[in-house]
Amino acid sequence: MNVFKQKEREFALQRVDMLRERFPEAGELLSFLKGVLEFQSQVIEELREKDPPFDVSSALSRIDKGKPALRLRGVDWTVYFPLLRRLLDVLSDIGTEEIKTRVEGLAKLSDEEIKGELNSFLESREADEVERLTFLSWLQPVLHTFADRIELNHEKWLKNVCPVCGSKPSVSFLMDTSEWEGVRFLRCSLCLTDWLYERTKCTVCGNNEDDKLSYYTSEEVKHVELQVCNLCNHYIKNVDMRKDGLAVPDVDDVATVALDLWAGEQGYLKVERNLLGL
Ligand SMILES: [Zn+2]
Ligand SMILES: [Zn+2]
Repeated sequence: MNVFKQKEREFALQRVDMLRERFPEAGELLSFLKGVLEFQSQVIEELREKDPPFDVSSALSRIDKGKPALRLRGVDWTVYFPLLRRLLDVLSDIGTEEIKTRVEGLAKLSDEEIKGELNSFLESREADEVERLTFLSWLQPVLHTFADRIELNHEKWLKNVCPVCGSKPSVSFLMDTSEWEGVRFLRCSLCLTDWLYERTKCTVCGNNEDDKLSYYTSEEVKHVELQVCNLCNHYIKNVDMRKDGLAVPDVDDVATVALDLWAGEQGYLKVERNLLGL
């Protein structure tokens, strides 16, 4: 396991507590997120011990051909259904009444019916809010375990979709690495993989003209900026790890929901909603 990522997932839980104090308006969302992250950390740990079979060489040859490493429809997800059933119990415990009711409905489905729902989600990426939250919360740690075994050649990929699962990013971040200064990574909305991307380029339409990209920050949140594309009207958050080295991009994204509300009021669309649908 990539040491930075491993430490970061462990740290994500503590980060939630820090952010809860700093962004009380996002307190309920963050408390709920913490429950999901606890479940996900356990799953990552359990899967790391079990070491489920995974064909790395075919994954790498797909990447070489410019395709994402995993064909999601080709994975036998039923092996992971017990984890999904466990997650449904967790969501029913920590969720709102609305979540509880929908989750109880999902829990009554047979494995065959869940398979059908899952396939249609993987194909269209559309589902009702609670089903989307459920599938993402479950698939993230499982896919993260696969993704972790793939050594990426970052400079070769540079696309706007994830090299591992082909999904869109939900957040991006800037950091210094031992090789590069102030580089930008996109973080996958589905498997949490980070991949290198051009800093001044729209993650939806590829526009890279400086005068057609705008950047917004707020007084209160200095380490998160919005990159808005004036051509396709989409935005993504850039979390600047150089301004706040303790940030966890996908967690800080949830805490700064106020920025999404502002962007929505301006008529901007997010490149991809995060785990909680924001
Ligand atoms: Zn991915
Ligand atoms: Zn664009």
